[in-house]
Amino acid sequence: MQDFIRLLQLGLPESEIELFDQKKVEYNKKTSSILRKSREDSKRPKCYLCSNDCSSFCNSHSIPRFCLENIALNGHLYYSGNLIDMPMFDKEKGVNEAGTFRIICRNCDSTVFSDYENPEHYSNVPTDKMLSQIAMKNYLKGISKRELEISLYNNMAQMAGNDLSQQQTVNELDLNEYINEFEYAKKACGSKWNDNYYLYYYEILEYVVPIAFQNNIALVGDLDGNVINNIYHHSADYVLKDIHICVFPLKTRSVVLMFIRNGESRYRAFFKQFNKLSANEKLKVINYILFSYSEDVFIYGGIDESVMNHEGLKLAAKQTSIAIADTPFIDPLEQALRTFDLNKRSTIPNLLDENYRVR
Ligand SMILES: [Zn+2]
Repeated sequence: MQDFIRLLQLGLPESEIELFDQKKVEYNKKTSSILRKSREDSKRPKCYLCSNDCSSFCNSHSIPRFCLENIALNGHLYYSGNLIDMPMFDKEKGVNEAGTFRIICRNCDSTVFSDYENPEHYSNVPTDKMLSQIAMKNYLKGISKRELEISLYNNMAQMAGNDLSQQQTVNELDLNEYINEFEYAKKACGSKWNDNYYLYYYEILEYVVPIAFQNNIALVGDLDGNVINNIYHHSADYVLKDIHICVFPLKTRSVVLMFIRNGESRYRAFFKQFNKLSANEKLKVINYILFSYSEDVFIYGGIDESVMNHEGLKLAAKQTSIAIADTPFIDPLEQALRTFDLNKRSTIPNLLDENYRVR
């Protein structure tokens, strides 16, 4: 169901939640049958990495499993989708189903990412090879997600008679960007050079943070309100530039890192502003980016209820660029800059702060 969140991530008003409660069974049947068909449609016959025929794909974790295990309580954890009032989604997720995708074979899954998926490898600064593996994993997940979305939109358009062609064009552009970035990462992985990615932030925290995260994000604006990515510039010539962010809770400590493709200039001003911040403010910025931009933050299963009910955090989690684009009469980019303004970082609890450590 998690894949479906992107489409419905706004949350529902109370009246509709009640309505949903009454029609739960019917609604669940409908959504799960569309999802099942879309999964079937988007399934490929070969492993995306090694191109060998593959009948059963690996249930790959986007975030290394050892990280999820460190913040699971009795095998369960929350994810940021739980902050949105969405009655059709389960309240908690098991470690096995958290943030997974299926487009590569078991053999590739257990060999290709082995450098970065080893918790022992974080005492030193991560190598370029580890960063390449992280990027590769992020884009594989992105590719899998976009392919599913494309078939999901097709099926929904067919069923409801809606015209979703505009959104489909965006999906196709996204997919192509992901494929290009994946190819770069794959090449970087086997490269003898170690300058394919630029690690500009690496921090070891001497406590276990209650969240786990690994994803690529296209930041809209920097700390001074300047545009980094015009997310509404949908053209094949304009490519969104991603920043990769990881928050890995280890056994007794945590690592937080951010990196980009080497030579990428779009983030230069942001890095300069970021570097001037104190250590704690840096963590606040990262924490805010995760919750406002992504629906894929995994949260400690034993987190205090007041965090999951925090209004500011819920509001941040509900933010979506799709909603903004649909509002007429305003410049969506201006609005997005305001919505994702990193200076709002103190309006949500900073879960990377030691006060929230997993005990
Ligand atoms: Zn394979």
